[in-house]
Amino acid sequence: MQDDIAEVLVSAAEIKKRVKEMGAAISRDYAGKDLLVVGILKGAIIFLADLVREITIPLQLDFMAVSSYGAGTTTSGAVRILKDLEVPVEDKHLLIVEDIVDTGLTLKYLLENLKARKPLSVRACTILDKPERRLVDVHVDYSGFSIPDYFVVGYGLDYAQKYRHLPDICVLKPEVYARQK
Ligand code: 5GP
Ligand code: MG
Ligand code: MG
Repeated sequence: MQDDIAEVLVSAAEIKKRVKEMGAAISRDYAGKDLLVVGILKGAIIFLADLVREITIPLQLDFMAVSSYGAGTTTSGAVRILKDLEVPVEDKHLLIVEDIVDTGLTLKYLLENLKARKPLSVRACTILDKPERRLVDVHVDYSGFSIPDYFVVGYGLDYAQKYRHLPDICVLKPEVYARQK
């Protein structure tokens, strides 16, 4: 596993510090509001678990699963809901929690889909952002780290469903992709 990693892009220590700051900002911004944190499966689960423990105000958690990527590293463009929310949203302020905003297609779809359900508000939070790769214009309200155009794994992010458990955000060696294609 360690042999597959070319470089640590963001270390666990850096992530921890940043997530603490993000939790503090969210706690301030949503004080006194009915907050529903919407985690996007599966990539966001590690970030979500860390983030909500840095939020000091009451909140509810729910999940959505969407698919936009296959097993590889390029987007198909199409977004599909695989699992939907279980709680009503009309009386809630929604915060979408994503692992990474890349082309922006997934987040754009989620924002439009959730806004159509008439919640009190919808905002977006991501641990990683690749602004260079953006194909559509989306606003990210809380962003952990802006990174260059690398395909990264770890801290919830996978390659072919592997590497999600790595504590750091890493770039894999090119031969790993060649091997698993
Ligand atoms: P977007 O719709 O913004 O292009 O990206 C949606 C999804 O693509 C992300 O939530 C994530 O699951 C996947 N993705 C985009 N960039 C990366 C990356 O660098 N590494 C991994 N593992 N997944 C990525
Ligand atoms: Mg995602
Ligand atoms: Mg993936």
